[in-house]
Amino acid sequence: MSDCNYDCSSCGEDCPSRVESQPSPEDFIQKLAEGSSVGKVIGIVSGKGGVGKSMVTSLLACASMREGHRTAILDGDITGPSIPKAFGVTQNLVGNVEGQIVPAETTCGIKMVSVNLMLANETDPVVWRGPMLGSVINQFWGETAWNQVDYMFIDMPPGTGDVPLTIFQSIPLDGIIVVASPQELVGMIVEKAVNMARMMQIPIIGLVENMSYLECPHCGEKINIFGESHIDEISAQYQIPVLAKIPVDPALASACDRGKIEFEEFDYLKDVMGTLEQL
Ligand code: ADP
Repeated sequence: MSDCNYDCSSCGEDCPSRVESQPSPEDFIQKLAEGSSVGKVIGIVSGKGGVGKSMVTSLLACASMREGHRTAILDGDITGPSIPKAFGVTQNLVGNVEGQIVPAETTCGIKMVSVNLMLANETDPVVWRGPMLGSVINQFWGETAWNQVDYMFIDMPPGTGDVPLTIFQSIPLDGIIVVASPQELVGMIVEKAVNMARMMQIPIIGLVENMSYLECPHCGEKINIFGESHIDEISAQYQIPVLAKIPVDPALASACDRGKIEFEEFDYLKDVMGTLEQL
């Protein structure tokens, strides 16, 4: 057709340019395994590694569990999985008779899947290429026995590469939380993560500034060891709420290192559960 505007929905012509059926974003969403149900799915993202994304994921899961919700963590940070260590979980993932993956469980009952629970040694590196990384994420979501989970927290791989894209496309996220350090907030890294979520039409629940400051144990003075915070400016610029500012807390690092994060009460993200319950 000579006057084709490529809007096939307004045209009855049968021509070679016709786009039969454009895939919609829902077409890429993976189904859960038979018998599984997951209430709300929250992705925890960061522009780069080492800013405390796994730590924030762990604290959120603990807060959810304390509120009495059936809670799960999908450790999507495939090449740098650190969630099992923070909870002291070492049991290997096994399968059930239906051929589904059975998640491991923390002492307090948080269910989790992580590549670290599939390796012969937890120090083995994961040297897989992109497609394999994406397919393990799809198995963690769609081939795992997620029995009546109320809240699932997904520790996303850092950045805006192939694997986060797989998660954004194939898992029905209710929203994401962006974690950043004060240094990072001045750069473009956060903007890229925010823009990616917006392009994928995923709601951004809020920002968490980690390692925001250090409180002097002697006089209580707050020291901005990573420089002045810019989180409030970023929040205003993108109209995304600030959910929390977490200080550098040696007790937090120690609890993660000892695998005891769920036994020690850190209140930094307690109020965030109220926001998630409104979603
Ligand atoms: P990411 O998932 O972004 O790569 P992690 O959550 O694994 O980062 O954190 C990196 C390291 O920093 C871990 O050893 C963690 O225990 C430590 N850490 C993170 N946040 C804090 C904090 N607020 N206070 C003290 N240590 C922290």
